[in-house]
Amino acid sequence: MEKLTLTETPTCACGSVSVAVDGRALSMLLCSCRDCRKATGTGHSGFVIMRRDDVTVSGETRHFTKIANSGSEISRHFCPICGTPVYGVTARSPALILLPVGLFTEPDWFVPTQAIFSRSHLVWDALPEGIAQYETYRPGAEG
Ligand SMILES: [Zn+2]
Ligand SMILES: [Zn+2]
Repeated sequence: MEKLTLTETPTCACGSVSVAVDGRALSMLLCSCRDCRKATGTGHSGFVIMRRDDVTVSGETRHFTKIANSGSEISRHFCPICGTPVYGVTARSPALILLPVGLFTEPDWFVPTQAIFSRSHLVWDALPEGIAQYETYRPGAEG
């Protein structure tokens, strides 16, 4: 499948953090894990995965790190002023960066191909019809 190229500089809600992206969207997914539910305040998150080298974050972020279900550390960075989730990085895949799709201004290009952590998916939370669902991670995927 041809990869979408994104060239955009979205910001957090208050504008103090900007995220310049210039590169290909490697993967798009939805996640219903409990941490994503807390980070988004609703049933699931939507992420674009890109190469870390293709993304430049400007402005101060704060983060917290915890052990993900994969057993590797994930750090979730957010704006300390407005609380917008800005990006995530995992110790297991340090060359990659996870960008919440809600950060982008008009992400109508977002076409998630998998929904992960269906084991904690909530019945009222609608997912796209026909999307591949996985109990935890997609087999063979990096956490
Ligand atoms: Zn902000
Ligand atoms: Zn998650």
